[in-house]
Amino acid sequence: MVISPEKVYVQHLTNSSFAENNLEVSIVRLDLIHPSISGNKWFKLSAYINDATQKSYQAFATFGGAYSNHILATAAHCNQQGYKCIGFIRGEEPASLSHTLADAKELGMTLKFLSRSEYQNRDIEHLKSLYPEYYFIDEGGFGTLGIIGIKQIFQWIPSDASFIVAACGTGTTIAGLIYSALPHQKVVGINVLKGYEAIENDIKQLLPSDFVSNNWEIFNTYHFGGYAKKNDSLINFMNELWQTNALPTDFVYESKMMYGLIDLAKKGYFPKNSKVIAIHSGGLQGNLSLPKGLLHF
Ligand SMILES: *Cc1c(COP(=O)(O)O)cnc(C)c1O
Repeated sequence: MVISPEKVYVQHLTNSSFAENNLEVSIVRLDLIHPSISGNKWFKLSAYINDATQKSYQAFATFGGAYSNHILATAAHCNQQGYKCIGFIRGEEPASLSHTLADAKELGMTLKFLSRSEYQNRDIEHLKSLYPEYYFIDEGGFGTLGIIGIKQIFQWIPSDASFIVAACGTGTTIAGLIYSALPHQKVVGINVLKGYEAIENDIKQLLPSDFVSNNWEIFNTYHFGGYAKKNDSLINFMNELWQTNALPTDFVYESKMMYGLIDLAKKGYFPKNSKVIAIHSGGLQGNLSLPKGLLHF
């Protein structure tokens, strides 16, 4: 398991709506750190790992569903550092494991399956008492340490960028971007969950109470029907992005983020001559669950 941050680069993007508005648009290719580890998950975890190391933990436990990029990133971190880890997985053990869980298991993660209601009602304090030597990380890496880890992404964000656009699930990545952005940089989140308008409040909760910034906005209308939902128009859009920009995207997060970004550009959301930076966090291994041949990449 080799993680390669040195492969990350900033790719220039073209689209007629960018040209019409004189926008300079690029994307930070965090997906290139590893074929199956999501870039944002890796960075989000790093502050937890540091905290755990300082507290002398050598084992980790966390939570997620069968397709969780966070579960896989945690397994990879622990594998790289020789730590034990447990993944508490939502739902009964399936007859055959998803790609994500099979990879996590191969990396040495112990999988423990919880029924949906057990998962929903999980009592972290109780689990901690059962596994005292384990450092527990919340589902998706949600939490204040997660936003601190995201700061590292700024090494690829030019200081003259005026907009930073990223997909949001739990909102931790966006909170981290808001927390570390320069005052003139507006952070724009494309929410991939349907009916999760409370995300704005959750983002505010994650930010330290003495931190003030109003320079951010979340769009809740680009979810294509909900988390991991897709239709022909999204698939066509993904193939088009590949054809025009050689940009691979996943159908859960990054395609919806790029769709939102282009739609906002068409609608004139970004003032003329703006420099816009998108964040590609990865997630491409999620496309393995699509029928073969649907995507041209
Ligand atoms: C998890 C994930 C996100 C969303 O990150 P949050 O911090 O949960 O908002 C975006 N893109 C990819 C590829 C992810 O795996």
